[in-house]
This record gives sequence, structure tokens and C-alpha cells, in this order.
Amino acid sequence: MMQAYPNNEPDRSVGVETSLRERDQAVIWHPFTQMQTAPLPIPIVRGEGAVLFSEDGNAYIDAVSSWWVTIHGHSHPYIAERIYKQLQTLEHVIFAGFTHQPAIELAERLLPLLPNNQRKVFYSDNGSTAVEVALKMAFQYWHNIGQPRRKVIALEGAYHGDTFGAMAVSGRSAFTAPFVPFLFDVEYIPTPVAGQEQTALDQLQARLSDEVAAFIVEPLVQGSGGMVMYEPDVLDQFISLARRHGVLIIADEVMTGFGRTGKLFASYHLREQPDLISLSKGLTGGTMALGVTTCTQEIYDAFLSEDRYKTLFHGHSFTANPLACTAALASLDLLLADETQAAIQRIVQRHAAFAEALRQKPGIKNMRQRGTILAFDLGADGQTSSYFSTIRDVAYNFLLNEGVLMRPLGNVLYIFPPYCITDEQLDTVYAAVEKLLKYLDQQPASSL
Ligand SMILES: *Cc1c(COP(=O)(O)O)cnc(C)c1O
Repeated sequence: MMQAYPNNEPDRSVGVETSLRERDQAVIWHPFTQMQTAPLPIPIVRGEGAVLFSEDGNAYIDAVSSWWVTIHGHSHPYIAERIYKQLQTLEHVIFAGFTHQPAIELAERLLPLLPNNQRKVFYSDNGSTAVEVALKMAFQYWHNIGQPRRKVIALEGAYHGDTFGAMAVSGRSAFTAPFVPFLFDVEYIPTPVAGQEQTALDQLQARLSDEVAAFIVEPLVQGSGGMVMYEPDVLDQFISLARRHGVLIIADEVMTGFGRTGKLFASYHLREQPDLISLSKGLTGGTMALGVTTCTQEIYDAFLSEDRYKTLFHGHSFTANPLACTAALASLDLLLADETQAAIQRIVQRHAAFAEALRQKPGIKNMRQRGTILAFDLGADGQTSSYFSTIRDVAYNFLLNEGVLMRPLGNVLYIFPPYCITDEQLDTVYAAVEKLLKYLDQQPASSL
């Protein structure tokens, strides 16, 4: 046999007999994971409804919707069927100079569901890019109309994604520390949680000027920041205040969209309308990667010109991938079905009842709920709360042992289920949480 480049030949002895965990360890670098100390990942071989099945025969209820994307449960047969059919017809096509039915139909169906000032859909392929596009539209809008504005206002503790622009408008934290010198300047105001509304409003007022291009928010719930919740009323005040200075409002609904807050979009809770909306995560039911940025006619019009320099020069290889658009169409069918809408309300009510039962228990603070998201802080007063606290690891592992996948954000425990979760599965999640609380209560505080 010819062996011209022996050093480039794959070593076929690797990975033949070893487990998936070991093979993973040999070749993969995981997201948000300290690879030296993290336990080996759990190989998942199958998913059905709200349940994930591991290689070693365990089952886990996915109470975080696999990082907030899986709204209809895993391997949904209807979505699978639709994608399969599309796959046999057209898997992908360049989206500049060409178009296709699934992209057009999805835009036609999405726009009427969004606040009624939204007129155009721009496709990308994840939440961070949906935010990047919104930022670029906002900056270039001001550039194109000949009144450049360079400032952005964001909320402290915000999370808008991991690419550079999205990172720049996210709160500064341990996650962004190595990159701070490379991030553009952003002005932060406090998140207007209960008791902080007036301070936040005053600070917004102080920072607003006609140099501010955009104000970006995660409406009503800051996800990665620890499921921090605030009221629609104060966000309405923020928006109308910012509007008085002509500032463009970007609603990052990447996490809050598609029923998560109990309504189809968090913007439904508001009187004011955003100028730009970013969507992803639940968009395809968690099946395929897809991002959407929508905007008003006014923003779109600022890019129309005989002057080619006014073009929005942005795009991705997989922009408007037909399979992803088809998955989104199928997911919308499911989401808008009465059965799913009823399921969302059932989760909302069951969460509320569970919250009421838990409220008086020791070791819990800050019980909060918005729609299908229930969250609270673990740990007695004085215990530190950070993403890196050990209580997080204790809770994570304890719940996994109970067959429930939850991924606390520091000491913030939250339930974020797929809408197809059954009452029985929800009971299992609630029981596991109660068992965890009892266990934590028995630990000496110093051990956490
Ligand atoms: C997850 C998230 C993003 C980033 O989305 P990715 O698809 O992970 O890049 C942006 N904004 C919010 C509010 C998110 O929760």
C-alpha cells in the first residue's frame, strides 16, 4: 500500500474500542467548560419528548430545554418529517441573488406575529449573529442618514451572545474579561428589578443624548445573567424615554421569544414597540440553527439608495438555510396549535402553585416567575452568589442523579421546560427540587 504522507494518515487504532466519553475527551473542546477539571460529558444517544437517554441507560428530564431551544421536545416527528421532505427537494441555496419558498413563507408568517411596526426579516444562523445584525443595522442606519451616532446603552448583567459585537453589549463579567480591550464602549444602566426602577430610570435619563444609536434589552427576563426579572411597565418607560432622543430600541428576544414568557413574545407584554427584534433559540423548535433580525420600514428605507455604499454588507454561508426555515415553519405550526398554547398555560399555572408551596422553605430567596420560567436563588444569606459557586455544582450533580437536567446559573436554580412536558414529568422535576432543598438544608453552610 502506498504511504506517501505517513504523518497525515489517521491513526485508525484510536477510538475503536473506547467509550464515547473517552473518544470525546481525546478530540473535543466543549463550550463554557474548564476542560481540565470538568467531569467527562454524558453521551446522549436518543431524545424523545422532554426526555434524554444516555449511552449508559439513564434517562434525564430536560428541564432546561437543552439550553433554552427545545420548545416542543426532542426528535419531534412532525418537525422531522417536514425537514426530511425539504431535504429531498432543496437542502441549501445561496441566498444572495436567489430565494426560496421556506424563507419567504417563514418571513410572511413571522411578521404578522411580531409587533406590527416590524416590516422586514433578515436571516442569519444563531442568536449572536441575530444580535450582531441588529447592531450593524442600527449603527449603519445612523451612518446612512448622515447623522452618525456611536453609543449604545445596555443593561448591567445583560447577555446578548458570544461574538464580539454581542459580547460588547453584554454586561462585563469573568466571561468577557480577556476581551475587554477589544470591545467597543457601552454605557450600562442598572436592570430595573423591584426597588431599583427609579435609579435605573434616572441613570437612563442621564445617559441619553443624540449620540446614542441604540438601546438594547432582553425584555422582561435576563437569561444568562441569572433569570433576572423585571416588569413591563418600567421597560415601557425606558423605551418611551429613549424614543424622545430618537434612540433605536433593540429587543433581544432570542431567549424570551416563542411562548417562553407565557405570551408569544415578551414584546406582547409591552405597550411600546421595539425598532429591531432578534430571534433564535426556540425559532426552529430547537431543531436547526437559525437566526432572525426584523426591523421597521424606516430602518430598511435608510439602506435603499443608488449608492452601493449604503448596502447592508452582512451575510453568512448558511443564511436562510431551507432546512432551518422549514424546521421553523413546522415549529410555528406546533406552537400556534391550541394544544401547545394550553400546555404553556398549564406550565404557567403549575409553576405558580409550586412557587407558592416553596416560598416559605428555608434556603430559598427571590422566588420569581415569568411565564414558563420559574427561578429562585439557593443558599442562606451571606453565601456568595456567582457563576462559579460550589453550590451550583452540588445542585447540578444532585439533580442529575435524580434524573433531572437543570443547569443552575451560579446559585440561581431555574426550571425552563419544553412545552410538551407532562404533568407527571413536571412533578418529578418539582420533587427533585424539593429533595435538593432538603439535602442542602442538612449541609453545614461552610461546606457549600
Ligand atoms: C443565547 C442568547 C443569545 C445568543 O444566542 P446563540 O445562539 O447562543 O449565539 C443572545 N441573546 C440572548 C438573550 C440569549 O439568551
